[in-house]
Amino acid sequence: MRPHTDGLDTLAPVDGTDRAGAQPVAGFLPERRGVVAQQPDWPDVQAVALVEDQLTSMAPLTADHEIEALAGGLAMAAQGRALVFQGGDCAEQFVDARRDLVRRKIDHLQGLSAGMRASTQLPVVTIGRMAGQYGKPRSSPTEMSRSGELIASYRGDAVNSFEQDTAARVPDPTRLLTAYRCAATILDELRQSWSGRDPLERVYASHELLLMPYECPLVREGARGTYAGSTHFGWIGERTRGLDGAHLEFARSVINPVGIKLGPSATPDDAVAISRRLNPDGVAGRLTFIVRAGVGRVEDMLSPIVDAVAADGRPVVWICDPMHGNGYVHDGVKTRALTSIVDEITAFVRVMQAARQWPAGLHLEVTPDPVTECVARVEGAHTFTDYRSTCDPRLNAEQSAEVVSRFLALL
Ligand code: PEP
Ligand code: MN
Repeated sequence: MRPHTDGLDTLAPVDGTDRAGAQPVAGFLPERRGVVAQQPDWPDVQAVALVEDQLTSMAPLTADHEIEALAGGLAMAAQGRALVFQGGDCAEQFVDARRDLVRRKIDHLQGLSAGMRASTQLPVVTIGRMAGQYGKPRSSPTEMSRSGELIASYRGDAVNSFEQDTAARVPDPTRLLTAYRCAATILDELRQSWSGRDPLERVYASHELLLMPYECPLVREGARGTYAGSTHFGWIGERTRGLDGAHLEFARSVINPVGIKLGPSATPDDAVAISRRLNPDGVAGRLTFIVRAGVGRVEDMLSPIVDAVAADGRPVVWICDPMHGNGYVHDGVKTRALTSIVDEITAFVRVMQAARQWPAGLHLEVTPDPVTECVARVEGAHTFTDYRSTCDPRLNAEQSAEVVSRFLALL
C-alpha cells in the first residue's frame, strides 16, 4: 500500500539509533478493553488492519532512554524543582514536516523556555506539541463548509484532508503511514537540535494519544517495560479521558510520562481515580494534569480537585492549559482572547499557591508565525488577516512571549 503523500517534501528515512531490540508487543489492543471514543469511521476496516501491520513492522519513533530522560525532568517538576513548558500547533500539517519550518518551531519553544529559565533559575522541561499531533477529536462529526454544504469534520491530517470536499473528508488509513514518516522527520530534527545540550534543555515530542490504529502498533517492549513508541509524552484529551475508556487503558499500559486534560466537568473523584489508575506507585513525573477549566471556572473546579489529589498523596505535575476552555466564535471565526488566557493562568497560579502546590507550568497553542488567530481582548472589532490554523487559534510569537511573561510574574 502506498502511503498518502500529497503536498509532501521528500521525507528522511527513520534512523535506527538505539532501537535495536525493541520488539512490537504482539496483540497490544487496549481498544478491546473498553469504549473507544473519537475514532474515525474508517470505511474499509481491512485497509486499517493492513496499515496496522505495516506500523507494527516499523521502528519505534522514540527510544526508551529519551523517554526516561524526559520523565526525570518531569519528576523534578512534580517536586517543585523545575518548570514545564508544553506548546505548539493545535493540529500539525503534513506539508509543514520540513526541516526549516520544524527548526523555527523548535527555536521558538526553546526561546520561551529560556525566558522561563532566566527568570526563575529553574530547569524548564520543554515539550513540543509536535512530531505526531495529527489526529483531532471533534465535538461534532460534521461541519458546514464555506459553500453551505454539510461535510464530515476534519479529524487531523492523519485521518482526512482539511480540504472542504466530501470525498477529501473520507478517512484514509494510509494517512497514518504518512503521519509516521512526517513524525520521523520532525524527531530527526529535534534530535539534531539536542546536540551538546543537557537532557533538561532539550525539546521533547508530544501529541494527543487519540488514534488507536496508530498508537497500538507502535507500542514496544523496552528495557524497563512497555512503552509508546510514537512519542515521548502523550496526553489524553478532555473528550476521551473516561475511566472506562480505551484511551486511559492505553496510557495505563505504557510507562511513558502521560498527561490528562481536566476540563470543567472533571470532579475530585475523577482526578483521584485517574491518578490511582495511572500512577498506582506514586512515581513523581509519571502523571501530569493539564487543567483547562476556562476563565471564571478555575477556582470552583480546581480547588477541590487539587485538595483531593494532594490528600491522596500521589505526586502530580500540574500545568495550566488556558487555551481550550476559552475559545469562542467572532464573526464566524474561532478565536481566543489574551485577556481570558492571562486571567485563567492567574487564577490557576493563585489556586495552586493557596493549596501549597507547585504551579509547574503552561500548555499553550503557539506558532512562531505572525498569525492573527487569537485577539487581545473580547471587546471591539477584529480582523483575522492571517489565519492559518486548520483547527484551534494559536498565539503568535509576540502573544506567546507576553503570556509566558505574565505567568512568570505570578511565581
Ligand atoms: C487540544 O489540545 O487540541 C484539545 C483538543 O484539547 P482538549 O482535549 O482539552 O479539548
Ligand atoms: Mn486545540
